[in-house]
Amino acid sequence: MKFGGTSVADPEAIDRLIAIVRQQIASTPDARSAPVVVVSALAGVTDALVAVAQLAEEGEADRAASALRSLVDRHVAVATAVTTESRTRAVDDVRREFDELVGLVHALAVLREVSPRSRDAVLASGEVVSSRIVAAAFNDHGIRAAWVDARSVLVTDAEHTVAAPDMDETRARAIATLAPLGADGTVAVLGGFIGATSAGITSTLGRGGSDYSAAIFGAALDADEIQIWTDVDGMLTADPRIVPQPRLVPRLSFAEASELAYFGAKVLHPSTILPAVAKNIPVRILNSRRPQNAGTMITSNGAPASGQLTAIACKRDVTVIDITSTRMLMAHGFLRRLFEVFERFKTAVDVVTTSEVSVSVTVDDTRRLDAILDNLHHFAEAACEREMAIICAVGENLRSDPMLFGRAVTALNRIPLRLVSQAASRRNITFVLRDADLPHAMMRLHETFFR
Ligand code: ADP
Ligand code: ASP
Ligand code: MG
Repeated sequence: MKFGGTSVADPEAIDRLIAIVRQQIASTPDARSAPVVVVSALAGVTDALVAVAQLAEEGEADRAASALRSLVDRHVAVATAVTTESRTRAVDDVRREFDELVGLVHALAVLREVSPRSRDAVLASGEVVSSRIVAAAFNDHGIRAAWVDARSVLVTDAEHTVAAPDMDETRARAIATLAPLGADGTVAVLGGFIGATSAGITSTLGRGGSDYSAAIFGAALDADEIQIWTDVDGMLTADPRIVPQPRLVPRLSFAEASELAYFGAKVLHPSTILPAVAKNIPVRILNSRRPQNAGTMITSNGAPASGQLTAIACKRDVTVIDITSTRMLMAHGFLRRLFEVFERFKTAVDVVTTSEVSVSVTVDDTRRLDAILDNLHHFAEAACEREMAIICAVGENLRSDPMLFGRAVTALNRIPLRLVSQAASRRNITFVLRDADLPHAMMRLHETFFR
């Protein structure tokens, strides 16, 4: 059971969380299989820690320290409100974690340098303290619980800020530490998002990574279900921040959910589905404010065919790179050379379209864009265009109903489309367009398929 930032934001949210976990325990026939609870940092805390790291990098030691003081106050207030007998210990735990962080941030501010590794150490504190608070609250509310340091279970590689799990090692540790707790009826409480390398250095899975943590633990323990508790009713037919009043999608296939998450449906971290697929574990998205609702159920099959699209997702702030070369004409090996450049600079390509003499790709990570362009220029002309966006219309039904593609293109009539692609899986159609046109395009597509 994973609870996101808004589901642990304040004492009221933590009260709701406790009621949800209590209900889960009551409805589990086997009293000896307690759920594992994974929590994010309190809402807004990771963003605040990102700002602290930024201040440290700028040498703004005082401002960083004052930002940390308000974080301490907020956590102490929440810990105080949700605990009784464990209060002194919970508050001490919070203070100790932040004392260490204050020391670290001061050192970073003196050096004016925050490496990816230090950044992970700073950001991890949010989940360390939130999970400690929730574990203490459980025990004070009659739910037997144990705090487990996620860094002692989730082993990752050393790609700091975007670390990948070592599933074998993590499974072994989860079975050794989490399984006995569950079997004893004790709820293990861990912070999401964080792990450690095999050398014990704190790492993080990337922003929004708590969902991924939950799926990793769920798969490692062969859980019956992975529940993602959040602030919306489930996967919606479109991003509610862009399309007003989207509808709930009650059922999704793993493949559909992956596509939607990858192309911007923030409710699920894009990697969440991978561990679930490997073990065929259903993933459920649920609203912690409306726990009685059924949410979205994600399984290998998804919904029965309906002749409809399933949902549309979108990704903003995308860059298109157009690569043109007359040498490509009838030549072999050109695409290999081209993609090698992206590989060398560890930059993922999302959408690709090709013609006889040109290839266009989209990237959303532009940190190494200049180097990529320089290298492409050795053998081709390359130009990039920023402020673009991707719309991804997803549905298993796209395979069986060729009319859906036509309806989607027609809905976007007169909105300039930069690239259009439909992959062999024919589970999605991707449109690349100017970011400025995105809200309008999303609205039109949504209107066409979901009203
Ligand atoms: P949590 O903190 O619980 O992990 P997130 O903010 O990461 O929550 O994800 C939930 C948010 O994702 C929603 O509040 C919503 O604004 C956004 N979102 C974007 N696209 C979708 C979608 N297709 N369905 C549901 N939510 C979406
Ligand atoms: N707290 C982390 C973030 O804000 C991880 C998460 O919430 O999933 O990115
Ligand atoms: Mg999230």
